[in-house]
Amino acid sequence: MNMIDSVSAQEAYRDELVAAGLLIPTGVDGLYGRSGMFEEVVERFDALVTVWGGADGAEVMRFPPALNRKYFEESEYLKSFPHLAGTIHSFAGDERAHRSLLRRLEEGQDWTEDQVATDVVMTPAACYPVYPTVAARGPLPEEGRLIDVFSYCFRHEPSIDPARMQLFRMREYIRVGTPEQVMEFRETWLRRGREMMGSLGVPLDIDVANDPFFGRAGTMLSNNQRDQKLKFELLIPITSEEKPTACLSFNYHQDHFGHLWDIKTADGGVAHTACVGFGMERVALALFRHHGFDVARWPAPVRSVLWG
Ligand code: ATP
Ligand code: ZN
Ligand code: MG
Repeated sequence: MNMIDSVSAQEAYRDELVAAGLLIPTGVDGLYGRSGMFEEVVERFDALVTVWGGADGAEVMRFPPALNRKYFEESEYLKSFPHLAGTIHSFAGDERAHRSLLRRLEEGQDWTEDQVATDVVMTPAACYPVYPTVAARGPLPEEGRLIDVFSYCFRHEPSIDPARMQLFRMREYIRVGTPEQVMEFRETWLRRGREMMGSLGVPLDIDVANDPFFGRAGTMLSNNQRDQKLKFELLIPITSEEKPTACLSFNYHQDHFGHLWDIKTADGGVAHTACVGFGMERVALALFRHHGFDVARWPAPVRSVLWG
């Protein structure tokens, strides 16, 4: 399939999802409302993740989809992904500036120049608020920490691919601890992720991956990430067989976040971290793609896994 074919397949599938009412268009690529049926699948899948991960006793944390700007700055996200970040700006002018804003708006000119950065930035991945939070508690206990989060995430990557949204939800488990604890967590989830998604009757593949690091220096970071097998993705075909979509991600950050926020293990070492991320909309889209747009007609085994 060449580039043009894959783009038109994405557009065609988006149109089908919109026609079926599963996605509600907003006029912006990558920004959708969703139907009750779509949301029910998201909720049932979220519950399934808890079935597979709940017994580990993770500490549940729920954050709004925005980060303290200071944490965002410390995270070095801007070094790697400046093109994806979404900062929240707000009007901070006086009455004169307000009149000028309204005039520019009226005249169809740029009215955003008096908008200034606030203290909050959109969350780019659900695990970002966790590291500074864990760091603030002091050294880790012997057993390290395991955290469960769920959040909307923002990435500025507008696309006609219905599986590449600008605002989407990510459930994650995050392990913070010694390199051994963290590697074991990732091995466990690579195995579980395959079994769990297999039980949903979708074709899948797990492969080494890299993040879309920005610029020429980014190419080196991407290659390094692949060579060291720091990132795996569980891929399911949605709009293309040749280029299946990453629905789950398994990331090992080594001591990157441990260094940034000075997270220490019980014996004084720098903490390592890893996370497993479940792309809620992508998993729902994969299920609709392979089992059809009407959940009542999904295969009985799949229905029973999700609805019990
Ligand atoms: P991709 O390679 O397709 O850009 P990713 O590998 O960058 O995705 P991660 O950063 O690992 O994605 O995010 C964790 C999970 O969040 C992914 O496995 C995916 O399911 C989901 N996800 C990432 N980006 C998007 C998006 N733009 N729209 C919907 N879901 C997404
Ligand atoms: Zn993460
Ligand atoms: Mg990827």
